Amino acid sequence: SMEQLNKQVEFLEDKSSSGKLRDWSGKKKRNLSLAEIYMMIKESYRKIHSEKFNRFLNREERCRMCAIVLKYKRDKNGKRTLYEAYFCQLRLCPVCNWRRSLKIFAQVSKIIQAIEKEQEHAYLFLTLTQKNVSAENLDKTLDDMMYGWNKFMKYKKVKDVVKGAYRGLEITYDKNPIITSKMYQKKKDYYQKLGLKVGDKNPNFDMYHPHFHVLIVADKSYFKSRKYLKHEEWQELWAKAMKLDYMPQVNVKKVKGNTAEAVAEVAKYSAKDSDYVIEKDLDLSMNVVETLDYALQGRRLVSFSGIMKEWHKKLNLDDAEDGDLVHIDSEKDEELEGEMTLETYAWNVGYMNYVRV
Ligand SMILES: [Zn+2]
Repeated sequence: SMEQLNKQVEFLEDKSSSGKLRDWSGKKKRNLSLAEIYMMIKESYRKIHSEKFNRFLNREERCRMCAIVLKYKRDKNGKRTLYEAYFCQLRLCPVCNWRRSLKIFAQVSKIIQAIEKEQEHAYLFLTLTQKNVSAENLDKTLDDMMYGWNKFMKYKKVKDVVKGAYRGLEITYDKNPIITSKMYQKKKDYYQKLGLKVGDKNPNFDMYHPHFHVLIVADKSYFKSRKYLKHEEWQELWAKAMKLDYMPQVNVKKVKGNTAEAVAEVAKYSAKDSDYVIEKDLDLSMNVVETLDYALQGRRLVSFSGIMKEWHKKLNLDDAEDGDLVHIDSEKDEELEGEMTLETYAWNVGYMNYVRV
């Protein structure tokens, strides 16, 4: 009716505690692009492979249902908190991965805060990598990395330093067939060594790069102690754990800033949806999504160990990966004051945005 048409449309404006607008609609749009890719994969298996057809039918449906309705509580000061929503929990979902990264940030912040309250520590950020792999070798490489990580953590030199750790797995994918100037600027030395220039064929095209992001809790005195490990030592230990016949790229740096937020910043859980929701290249997107979907299934992408694991338990935090994605920051609920009003927002296909209903 005319009355409905004239009614002011109210879009969702969800702000974080720091006042930053949360990009719900951007994430939901990418989630729907992923659902389209799942739909195309499903169609490619229609009649020829019923098991795969059903797998991707399920993926598509779950993906589409994700975060369609968002229910908020709002207090007298206008502060808002999410209290009900359905999240698909798919490993590749852009909405769910964003929620997970916010949740991991909140969890790591809380854990570091608790650790620092008892005793001051030093923090290191470690990136453990190995050579790029093709789609066929990805699954096996991930097995090796998980095994290698456990071995690495048991070495005496590592155990002497690491009092606690957070470990996140990231897999990036190289979607560029040609070396762009942006890529060249970033890794000039590397391309020069190979005698390659802008516009040449990218040698890493269609390759996967799995790596670990690790946050380490060490003694306050670590950087001046005898236990201190040089960059080459970290590198050798990782090569040994992984049984590599070459020296892998390993990055180690001191985490600057002592607030829990600064430390948690490096622990981010990241899966770049721009790597597999590739605009204007549906075939490539389908290949990458299918590869990652199988490779990530049932894997622990994040883990806590040592005192970080102990505090995760003591603080009663739930599973960062498969746990609740509605309440990602449990403190926020307690901040609300006075009488609550309930607000519901729903995804609107016409506006491609969340609209108050
Ligand atoms: Zn989702």
